Amino acid sequence: MKIAPPDALAQHASGHLTDPSGRRFEYLRLSLTDVCNFRCTYCLPNGYQKAAGRAPDLSLDEIVRGVTAFARLGLWKVRLTGGEPTVRAEFTDIARRVAAVPGIRRVAMTTNGYRLANRAAEWRAAGVSAINVSIDSLDPARFAAITGHDRLGEVLRGVEAARSAGFETIKLNAVLMRGVNDDELEAIIAFVRERDLSLRFIEVMRTNDNARFFRDRHLPGQTVIDALQGMGWTRLPRAPGAGPAVEFGHAGVNGRIGVIAPYAQDFCTTCNRLRLSAEGKLHLCLFGDGGLDLRSLLQSDAQIDELVERIAVLTARKAPAHRLHEGNSGVTPHLASIGG
Ligand code: SAM
Repeated sequence: MKIAPPDALAQHASGHLTDPSGRRFEYLRLSLTDVCNFRCTYCLPNGYQKAAGRAPDLSLDEIVRGVTAFARLGLWKVRLTGGEPTVRAEFTDIARRVAAVPGIRRVAMTTNGYRLANRAAEWRAAGVSAINVSIDSLDPARFAAITGHDRLGEVLRGVEAARSAGFETIKLNAVLMRGVNDDELEAIIAFVRERDLSLRFIEVMRTNDNARFFRDRHLPGQTVIDALQGMGWTRLPRAPGAGPAVEFGHAGVNGRIGVIAPYAQDFCTTCNRLRLSAEGKLHLCLFGDGGLDLRSLLQSDAQIDELVERIAVLTARKAPAHRLHEGNSGVTPHLASIGG
């Protein structure tokens, strides 16, 4: 068994995992699969294709061991993502088992919503308390053009089902695209006026596969912030364990509108997350140089102590910031491959 350097061990002795930049990790994004059934223009425009040599998705037992180790290091929030996590037939069992891991206080999921209308109550009962649904446009034809699926109505019914099922937080994600959906702010304000949910615009991120799309469609999130502030919206305080979104509210509007701007200065300084891919690789950054193998230590319960140590040692290597500004998106072909 490898012995961790003393500083890495000290970092997790207190049950808190931190890195040399002083960032504390509370949040694990766990990819259940890289498979996605949608064909979003900025991610998988030609549909999912299995990458050569790709390992099978983590089994339920491997997932539980992984989450147990991260929880021992003080991570308390897990987001189930993908690919599309709900294409896994055993999704509900995975959610239930993850929610039962000691130390895990919140299980969240990110979905394109294609099964949400029928499954919202089941997933809530399994222990998922927060849900993000991707809706890039509130216009049915645009939604179909962006995702390759004419299913906006179905996904919106899913959002209503999630509201009825009592999720503690419901967030909608819309990738902000120049000339595609950058004229929808008024429609979005109307949508959140009566609904207690948050819609966040995400700046398109450049990946290895979408360089041209990025060049044509990227729009800084600041344009949305300027428009909101111009209409009297004000910035809301950041909740504990919250992600990188900057959120805004307005008197008389129940919901909130946020912006996730990975190209903004200091975006990485509040990074509180680690990623485990569906192949069992630890990714310290979405735009890093590749994953670090944990799978060999996910094979039996007897390996958990060693797994905890390896995660602590590897995390100490997390770079202070991504290199997207230099046009370097690491080895990430698209976000579905690691888990967006
Ligand atoms: N399939 C699920 C979904 O649709 O939400 C989960 C995975 S998806 C990769 C997670 C989020 O990443 C979605 O909101 C998606 O729109 C976003 N996303 C994917 N590629 C992106 C990119 N290049 N830039 C910004 N956001 C992206």
